[in-house]
Amino acid sequence: MRDADRAAALLNWYDTHAREMPWRVGPAARAEGVRPDPYHVWLSEIMLQQTTVAAVREYFRAFLTRWPTVAALAAAKDGEVMGAWAGLGYYARARNLLKCARVVVAEHGGTFPASHATLLKLPGIGPYTAGAIAAIAFDQRETVVDGNVERVMARLYDVHTPLPRAKAELTEHAAALTPAVRPGDYAQAVMDLGATICTPRNPACGICPWQAGCAARLAGTASDLPKKEPKAAKPVRFGYVYVAMRRDGAVLLERRPEKGLLGGMLGFPVSAWGEAPAEDPPLAADWRNPNAEVRHTFTHFHLRLALRLAIVSNKAKPARGSFVARAEFRPADLPTLMRKAYDLAAPALAGELSGNG
Ligand code: SF4
Repeated sequence: MRDADRAAALLNWYDTHAREMPWRVGPAARAEGVRPDPYHVWLSEIMLQQTTVAAVREYFRAFLTRWPTVAALAAAKDGEVMGAWAGLGYYARARNLLKCARVVVAEHGGTFPASHATLLKLPGIGPYTAGAIAAIAFDQRETVVDGNVERVMARLYDVHTPLPRAKAELTEHAAALTPAVRPGDYAQAVMDLGATICTPRNPACGICPWQAGCAARLAGTASDLPKKEPKAAKPVRFGYVYVAMRRDGAVLLERRPEKGLLGGMLGFPVSAWGEAPAEDPPLAADWRNPNAEVRHTFTHFHLRLALRLAIVSNKAKPARGSFVARAEFRPADLPTLMRKAYDLAAPALAGELSGNG
């Protein structure tokens, strides 16, 4: 099958099988001239980095309800946006999201630029996201290669070189296939194919629009591809997390440094983390050890934080962080690691405050 015929077959399939997504303009509307809002495309692409479509849907709707335009988002307070992002993880993305919105308003008059090169200069936008926005929002002929597309290309051309080494070769194949006609729909179609038909396990080759001429299907190797280099085991790091509550219910929180993991997020004070960290409580108190551990996995390591609890007087003066009144404390705005700590700590603290602990 020629590349042009292949692209046409996929677009035909997409016309009836496109997934519905709150940020997407489907093929029928697009054919009638409806264009996606670049703000929606950008917001969804940033949210989708490292996060599943299912997880992103609600966050996307909530953000649009609260900040319907990029100008509204640019004018938001940092803390509000970080709070609304809580749970999506990878908080550097949320900080860059705000920075990017502000640059778009300050330097581009509130309109996203259409060119890949200019998009790349915006905070938080790398080559993949720039390509996705240029293709989906502005219908430019950009090659967009995510994990789904890599898998489909590895199978279509029966590439056995393991990832990530195979990236360049798979990108070349993807680029050759990208059509000049409807490149925005095509970018979304190939992602949909990977997500719904050419799935990691048990690809549904029998109903695939690319089954004719798919090299892995002919060779019977589809389920073995793509090959991947074996992953190095993630190291485990240890530390302490300190949950202190005043008798009036106020909770001790500390804002993390801007740079680094959970940068700029509010959370409970922690010690340094490593192989054998020292305790580093944020105030002098009768710290209890409830023998509980908060476990969380980041991209490059597993973290285990031993929980420490304290009820302190209303006059307690912390060396780090500050007390947040009970009425203003919203556990839902905490990053996931800290919410896990709160969920472990809350019942014990409530018991102690009511005199049962
Ligand atoms: Fe994937 Fe099978 Fe389609 Fe080939 S025929 S692209 S392996 S679903």
